[in-house]
Amino acid sequence: MSADQLALLGGVPVRTAPFPAWPPATDEAVQAVAEVAKAGVWSDAEGPVKTRFEQEFATYHGARHGLGVCNGTISLEIPLKALGIGSGDEVIVPGYTFLATATAVLGVDALPIFADVDPDYVCLDPDAVEAAITPRTRAIIPVHLAGHPADMDRLNDLAARHGLAVIEDAAHAHGASWRGQRVGSFGTFGSWSFQASKNMTSGEGGMLVTSDDALADLAWSFHHCGRSRDGQWYDHAILGGNYRLTEFQSAILLTQLATLDDDLVRRERGAAVLDAGLAPIEGLSPLARDPRCTMHGYHLYQFRYDPAGFGGLPRERFVAALRAEGVPVSVGYGLPLDRQGVFANRRFDLKATGFDPSYAATDYGSLDLPVTQRFCEELVWIPQQVLLGSRADLADIVAAAEKVSAAAHTLVEAT
Ligand SMILES: *Cc1c(COP(=O)(O)O)cnc(C)c1O
Repeated sequence: MSADQLALLGGVPVRTAPFPAWPPATDEAVQAVAEVAKAGVWSDAEGPVKTRFEQEFATYHGARHGLGVCNGTISLEIPLKALGIGSGDEVIVPGYTFLATATAVLGVDALPIFADVDPDYVCLDPDAVEAAITPRTRAIIPVHLAGHPADMDRLNDLAARHGLAVIEDAAHAHGASWRGQRVGSFGTFGSWSFQASKNMTSGEGGMLVTSDDALADLAWSFHHCGRSRDGQWYDHAILGGNYRLTEFQSAILLTQLATLDDDLVRRERGAAVLDAGLAPIEGLSPLARDPRCTMHGYHLYQFRYDPAGFGGLPRERFVAALRAEGVPVSVGYGLPLDRQGVFANRRFDLKATGFDPSYAATDYGSLDLPVTQRFCEELVWIPQQVLLGSRADLADIVAAAEKVSAAAHTLVEAT
């Protein structure tokens, strides 16, 4: 059998060795967890490890206050609550993002309004945001998708002109920066996730930051059952919940914050190898990068796939072929978020919240988001931990893509 026979058709895969493992079970993390176990404080709103992590993470991202919470959805919901956003309010979110960006808005009884993304970086398009603003708009949630910062110059300018809050969803963008300033510090709030796939992870977990003292206090209260810093344990002034990050999670995350700078540089280097190797392959287009992106967070390495470069081979078959060669690629979000059943099949009670029932922006399931739609059809993702691999690891990915390109006709013929 020839070496160019595709693994999907019974050939020998380019690679069988694994790529770097995620989550990273380092000796430092294991030891940090053991220390917490013995220290006797396993969770506390003001626990020593949680407090240290909150301070170091916030300082690293250029903000005054950090708050460790149980996931990256609640770290969006708490800011919305602290800003007094709720029933009758609208919040603008991108159509191309993970579910939670929009469901956090529903979680406070406000209405997510989906706006299209820009054709280069897959982040909220400021023009689309401007067109979506109504008298009910209260906030914008830009997502730094895949780790590339959204255009915070134009979005912050828009927000200031219209009196809107900005909550940055930086769940993909730990350590990313825009014009030399780390993301999360541009908005009223910044929000991160530490879910298992994210670039810093404690299995689950989240963080929000803000430089507003009063909002920080309010957010703290929401995450701690509505208590206040100077109140009694059983005094609950506002409707909060138990959303605390534990000491164990904080300890693991501190070890990862210590290596974040290094990891960012390694991911940038890995991505550059893929850019150079994949761009010459007909039908594959690595995404461009805005010159103001001074550090890409690279939660995902994304490229566009054009079947025309592969003799008409559908994207799903290309992905299957590359996976068979040992490369962990996937298609990204398959649908503009408004077309997910949770939105498309939901009957929002527009009358009860005072909305105009004919309001087109809530026509979930049939919104016109052409750029989002195109990315849903074209993008291919490689997960972040792969970028931490060696130059040889990354060369295998390029070799696998070249092999599939050269033999694409055999697959087209086989289907
Ligand atoms: C992961 C993620 C979240 C939510 O984080 P969880 O910790 O899973 O709740 C929010 N936004 C985006 C863009 C994400 O990828």
